[in-house]
Amino acid sequence: MKRYSVFAVAREALRQHQGWERAWPNAEPKARYDAIIVGAGGHGLATAYYLGRNHGIRNVAIIEKGWLGGGNTGRNTTIIRSNYLQDPSAAIYEKARSLFETLSQELNYNVMFSPRGVMMLAQTQHEIRGYKRTAMANSLQGVTTEFISPARVKELVPIINLEGPRYPVLGALWQPRGGTARHDAVAWGYARACAAMGMDIIQKCEVTGVSQKDGKVTGISTTRGDIACDKLGIVVAGHSGVMANHAGFRLPIESVALQALVSEPIKPCMDVVVMANTVHGYMSQSDKGEMVIGGGTDGFNNYTQRGSFHHIEETVRALNETFPMISRLKMLRQWGGIVDMTGDRSPIISKTPLGNCFVNCGWGTGGFKAIPGSGWAMAELMAKGEPGPLALEFNMWRFKEGKFIDESVAAGVAH
Ligand SMILES: Cc1cc2nc3c(=O)[nH]c(=O)nc-3n(C[C@H](O)[C@H](O)[C@H](O)COP(=O)(O)OP(=O)(O)OC[C@H]3O[C@@H](n4cnc5c(N)ncnc54)[C@H](O)[C@@H]3O)c2cc1C
Repeated sequence: MKRYSVFAVAREALRQHQGWERAWPNAEPKARYDAIIVGAGGHGLATAYYLGRNHGIRNVAIIEKGWLGGGNTGRNTTIIRSNYLQDPSAAIYEKARSLFETLSQELNYNVMFSPRGVMMLAQTQHEIRGYKRTAMANSLQGVTTEFISPARVKELVPIINLEGPRYPVLGALWQPRGGTARHDAVAWGYARACAAMGMDIIQKCEVTGVSQKDGKVTGISTTRGDIACDKLGIVVAGHSGVMANHAGFRLPIESVALQALVSEPIKPCMDVVVMANTVHGYMSQSDKGEMVIGGGTDGFNNYTQRGSFHHIEETVRALNETFPMISRLKMLRQWGGIVDMTGDRSPIISKTPLGNCFVNCGWGTGGFKAIPGSGWAMAELMAKGEPGPLALEFNMWRFKEGKFIDESVAAGVAH
């Protein structure tokens, strides 16, 4: 695969862009692979990439029922941060965040990582205590965060209303190297790098069954025929329960819709990401100028990629309090994705009851930021058959054993 470079852009400019190659071919399924990954979202593609890059396993297929990156990876609000409380979470999210720093160079694809800084507002005494505790935990974990004053909040975000009709801003947890990246580009960059290693990306191909013998997976049934494999990775986010059902086991996962919306584009007015967990909403400004706004999950299980109307109303009301200027903006569009929630709001990267079948799910409302770290950890698990240090605590049996990794505060509205 030809490298993208300034010289390539200049050359193509001179020949009217006739020489670009397809970023990845549309592969036809082969009869057998060493490893199959179900789900071509960011996590599935990153798993395949690190299987090839770190472990030399390249006879790999990534099977996607729709189009690559068309699930939550293409629907999220792209916030990247690693200011979690528990050690295993801080470790995997910080690994991911640090990989984002050089991901564009690594993949030779501009993922537009923008470490503009992420702040989580403290609007109650309880939140002040919680975020100060997180800042201290983060300093022990090697994650750079600090608790900042309302004056510093105003300095960083001039459009914010510190007084708030219901909740004043009392400070914030600030992660200066948190930020955003372009979600599609993350999926596309990994896909192109996987294809360059000879992996097959097979789109419009739904996995409908998992065949097994003596407690091991032998292959999968798909809408485009049966495919044999030595190892199977299930990385399908909101459809994890459905895939686990095909494989004959159950996961401690609930699927719910989470939604977001964007305003019309306006001039640059906010160059950090702000989350307001108490009033329940968060906002950043995209490179196009739209205000990107996210809210909470629906309070009931479902598989519709929509989200209910009252959440839009609640989210906009919440952000009107925090940023009164948005009351004058027109909202352009709204969308939803199906997120996979665990009881402790931490992910699952785990072996399963089937010997050579592995699962990566439960990222819920906040898995975009984890894509590089999650792919790294899942690839290690699939290659070695045992979890490495990053995935060790995220096994699916922790719910039976009571070894929760409780991130319900860190993962509330804050993605
Ligand atoms: C509105 C919204 C806002 C969010 N905001 C943020 C944020 O700001 N920051 C953050 O870190 N996270 C955020 N998230 C969460 C984040 O998007 C997800 O955690 C992450 O994208 C999950 O990636 P994934 O690769 O696991 O799943 P997906 O991208 O959903 O990929 C799974 C893929 O599996 C495919 N699939 C499913 N079943 C089958 C089957 N049977 N056969 C073949 N393929 C199948 C699906 O089509 C899909 O493409 C948000 C999510 C939403 C919905």
